Amino acid sequence: MTTHEYDVAVVGAGTGGCYAAATVASAGYDVVIVERKTADEAGHIACGDALKGANNFPEEIPKSKLEPAFTNTAVDHGRFEAPEQGVELDIPVPGELAVIDRLKYGKLIIEGAREAGTEFHYDTVVKTLTQDDTGRVTGFEGVRRGEPVSYEAEMVIDGAGALSILQDKGDFSGATMDTNVRFSQFSSAYREVVEVEEPVEWHDALVFKPTKRSAGYLWYFPRTPTEINVGLGFQMSEEPMKLVGDLREDLQQRPEFKNAKVKDKLGAALPTRRTYDSGTAPGYIAVGDAAAHVNPISGGGIAGAAYSGKYAGEQCIEAIEHEDYSEESLWEYNSRVMDHFGGRYAALDVYNIFSTAYEISDLTALAGAIPGRQISEALYSGSSGVNPLLAVKTLWKARNHLGTMYDLYRTKGLADRLLEHYESYPDSPAGFDAWRSQRDSIMDDIYAETGAEAKY
Ligand SMILES: Cc1cc2nc3c(=O)[nH]c(=O)nc-3n(C[C@H](O)[C@H](O)[C@H](O)COP(=O)(O)OP(=O)(O)OC[C@H]3O[C@@H](n4cnc5c(N)ncnc54)[C@H](O)[C@@H]3O)c2cc1C
Repeated sequence: MTTHEYDVAVVGAGTGGCYAAATVASAGYDVVIVERKTADEAGHIACGDALKGANNFPEEIPKSKLEPAFTNTAVDHGRFEAPEQGVELDIPVPGELAVIDRLKYGKLIIEGAREAGTEFHYDTVVKTLTQDDTGRVTGFEGVRRGEPVSYEAEMVIDGAGALSILQDKGDFSGATMDTNVRFSQFSSAYREVVEVEEPVEWHDALVFKPTKRSAGYLWYFPRTPTEINVGLGFQMSEEPMKLVGDLREDLQQRPEFKNAKVKDKLGAALPTRRTYDSGTAPGYIAVGDAAAHVNPISGGGIAGAAYSGKYAGEQCIEAIEHEDYSEESLWEYNSRVMDHFGGRYAALDVYNIFSTAYEISDLTALAGAIPGRQISEALYSGSSGVNPLLAVKTLWKARNHLGTMYDLYRTKGLADRLLEHYESYPDSPAGFDAWRSQRDSIMDDIYAETGAEAKY
């Protein structure tokens, strides 16, 4: 078996892996990214192609490097459509938003990591982590073109995406690493990139729709006025959808998609759950989808992967400099993730939990009654302020749904309580168990109040 040695070994050439490796390489350490795909196929990721917040992306691979992949920067709002309920709602999206050529973006981040000094080993499927007698992760083993290979490293970064196989194989019994992970907390999603004959009228909007069957969602995201990313997904706790067939059926009903040509198709799972309580174990850090760094409502995970990659890279450098690979030494990584977005995503997940206890038709009708600005504030700023004029208008429009509206209001109170608890995320592993058991008791209140089944 061939053995490779590095300071840091990263699994996965996605956004999380590339930002992590670029951070480590920029500081002069030896780092490799091990990727199962070929060099040609690497960077080809199933995605809706909507990129939010690129203006503040980590400098290790700066926005200027990614910009050639931004094919539509005119998008400034979301459009929620539920034709059967007569709902069409425009929701402003604050901040910078682009729809991108995702393959080009994937190639550019790989180029950015390589320019920083990262080595890439393609065609290599990682099969298992290696750990010493104390449980510390010391590397991993895999297969390259039929030949076994192994990697030894001071630190391993898991950027292998949703439902990372490394976590199935690792023994995390003595670590804080979150192992409360089930399929039902993920969505299964599929997308096509299609070329239409005429520019679409909604080329400045991200269009969302509930699906007819199951509690799923559909999207049309315009990469250009004539090249559209169309896709759909459903939470795996719900009855499965026929993803390809249901998408075809929807597109056939829209005149814009007549004679549309399919240019690319791909499907994958994505974590529509709260961020992992901890993404660390001795010698090991999980980033991006491998630690559920995804907004559980919008499904946007590129930004979370980029930031957690940077934070993980910085934490590895510190661990190497202090020759301390323990969880105490890596803990700041968890604190930074929770502080930046983990707490907010956990609070947003409360609305997912709420939605499983209601009929989808009630929820779409209710959504149609709430002004887009209020939805935008709830989604993007976590604002709890209430504009009295908007509140009165909302109550009037929602007068037929006041019961659901009241339940939603109470749910918001619970989401705010949860967010407040995440603000006291412990600053060392010592306080972790107590923090988690208090969080679990807030979750029990949320299940009791919403009548929803426990998600975790
Ligand atoms: C259909 C769909 C639509 C989405 N739409 C959006 C959107 O519009 N906007 C947005 O921001 N986010 C979106 N997301 C989420 C976003 O794509 C992810 O959050 C993001 O790509 C996560 O990056 P990552 O680096 O963690 O993982 P990934 O990008 O998944 O990268 C993981 C890499 O690891 C490699 N790998 C996996 N296992 C192994 C192994 N055993 N050995 C070696 N290599 C391995 C994979 O080949 C891959 O290259 C969507 C996701 C899906 C599925």
